[in-house]
Amino acid sequence: ARIFKISDIQGRLLKERESEINEANATLHRLEQSRRQLVSDISHELGTPMTAIQGYLRAMLDGIVAPDQENLTMIYEKVLLVNQLVEDLFDLSKLEFGQPSFDLKSVKPHLFASDLIRKYGADIRRRGYRFESTLDLPFPEADEFVLSVDMMRIEQVMNNLIANALKYTPPGGTIRLCFCCERSDGKALPGGQAPPTAVFTVSVVDDGPGIDEAALPHVFDRFYRAERSRSTEGAGLGLAIARQIVIGHGGRIGVESQPGKGSTFYFTLPIMATCYG
Ligand code: ADP
Repeated sequence: ARIFKISDIQGRLLKERESEINEANATLHRLEQSRRQLVSDISHELGTPMTAIQGYLRAMLDGIVAPDQENLTMIYEKVLLVNQLVEDLFDLSKLEFGQPSFDLKSVKPHLFASDLIRKYGADIRRRGYRFESTLDLPFPEADEFVLSVDMMRIEQVMNNLIANALKYTPPGGTIRLCFCCERSDGKALPGGQAPPTAVFTVSVVDDGPGIDEAALPHVFDRFYRAERSRSTEGAGLGLAIARQIVIGHGGRIGVESQPGKGSTFYFTLPIMATCYG
């Protein structure tokens, strides 16, 4: 009976080890798959404009295409595209795998909001869209709070969300910036950090085509572009970069959208008690 017991325990331990090994193998397999996918995405995204550049230059050298202003501009734009892509990839890899250093400064919510409204409102109107904005600081101490942000990085997030709203919404549409402060639900932040005192939410709302339900969970993935966006320019890195920047600030980013009913992209910034102004 004793021997039976020991072999029983051995058997169970072996089974446990086996399932741990299987799990580790599955993780390795997933990582390998995603590495392969990344390499293939990068090759594809860089390859397409590079092939066009090569084709144009060859045709010019062969005297088939004139090296005039129009054709040179076309090549120049493709080079800019490649350059932007390489920069975005480098930025994303720094944010994902490196030690991103944020230059955090304290700013009052109403100044933060009015700065961004001023910065983007005029440009949105100039491009032929209606622009609206709201700032909601519903409790007395809300405006005494201080946000801790790297303004350059937050503007990078805003640039991206607004560029998308403009890119996917036909001119004549409405783009709205909403800023609001809510008392926190008391949940700890990712990484076990103490719960924030309040949460500041920034939303970019458009009344464009919206996003299909199936695409919605993927829009923040690297290189993801919804089927119907393929005709517009972009490599699908903007939202992935925005997500890393927001996470780096201790916030979260999300989207609510329905086809035909526009999209709301939002991100939150935590306000910690120690940041009272
Ligand atoms: P890109 O715009 O370069 O394709 P992004 O990472 O910025 O890449 O966006 C990923 C995808 O999310 C886009 O391809 C598009 O399908 C969808 N998307 C983003 N913003 C909007 C928006 N405001 N309205 C509709 N679709 C959007």
